[in-house]
Amino acid sequence: MENNIEVLLVEDSRTQALKFKLMLESHGYHVRVAQNGLEAMNMLLNSQTSIVISDWIMPEMDGSELCRAIRKHDFGNYLYIILLTAKDSKNDIIEGLEAGADDYLTKPVDDAELIARLTTAERVIRLEASLKQRNKEIALLSITDPLTQVFNRGYLNENLPKAFKRAVRYHQRLTIMIGDIDHFKRINDRFGHQVGDQVLQSFVTLINDSLRKDLDWMARYGGEEFIIVLPETDLKGGMAAAERFRTSVRDLGTRVGDQDIRITVSFGVAALDPEIDQSWMTTDDLIRAADQCLYQAKDRGRNQCVGTTL
Ligand code: GH3
Ligand code: MG
Ligand code: MG
Ligand code: MG
Repeated sequence: MENNIEVLLVEDSRTQALKFKLMLESHGYHVRVAQNGLEAMNMLLNSQTSIVISDWIMPEMDGSELCRAIRKHDFGNYLYIILLTAKDSKNDIIEGLEAGADDYLTKPVDDAELIARLTTAERVIRLEASLKQRNKEIALLSITDPLTQVFNRGYLNENLPKAFKRAVRYHQRLTIMIGDIDHFKRINDRFGHQVGDQVLQSFVTLINDSLRKDLDWMARYGGEEFIIVLPETDLKGGMAAAERFRTSVRDLGTRVGDQDIRITVSFGVAALDPEIDQSWMTTDDLIRAADQCLYQAKDRGRNQCVGTTL
């Protein structure tokens, strides 16, 4: 029987520890043994264990002290603690639970009962793991644009100012660009909104896939406008990237039925110059500068990139 669940057994008596270990292993548990609370804490800091079975009376650090130490520490996941005790007065049990134990068993321990209690522990651990997983998914959803799967406006509003402040503080280069699809209304008018959506998706995928991983990122700024953030990049590098995106979008065709739909995009690019003092500037200044460049690109006939340094 193998269930891949790791249990930490804390027991100062070697013979009792061995007896429990063999019994638990015969039920498929991976068992590690610590002889006292301190050793247990050290082992917990370096393992994935989520269930602790601890003796109560031990030298150095006893069971209830161990419970308190575990509860004080953030292990990243919940640790389920079962105390084993020869003490069975109500007050002792209350003390153990107050110290942070989830459950207790009185010695001599009945094997079947311990296994049954472990099943409860596993249920709690699994519940916590699935809640954490769900929270992660919700956190990701809350920063993702549902149509294009890139970051949404909320993420941009929170993270562009951070990137901006970092660049200013450490005199690093930073370039942003706003890309706006040319005459996108015509695509919708001619092919319908759903086809427009598909074109928008293939546009975003094309650009997003060619960003430097773990460094550059893009967010949906509005309808068919996207902001691309390029840390550690000057205007020259930013313009080269924008030009690369522009030509690849021009050459991109989105096939819908027997149609091959073509679009072009205009970019406004704005770069921070780390040589000059920007402490008076804000993220909005950077966005405004990129926006003005975008306006010029549109004005000059679209399908082009215009940039500035500030
Ligand atoms: P310009 O070259 O000046 O940018 O022309 P444009 O038609 O792209 O500009 P405008 O900003 O006037 O229109 C943007 C259009 O993008 C209008 C809107 O219907 C369309 N749009 C915005 N968001 C979406 C979307 O999520 N899906 C689809 N299909 N269309 C969208
Ligand atoms: Mg003992
Ligand atoms: Mg447009
Ligand atoms: Mg627009």
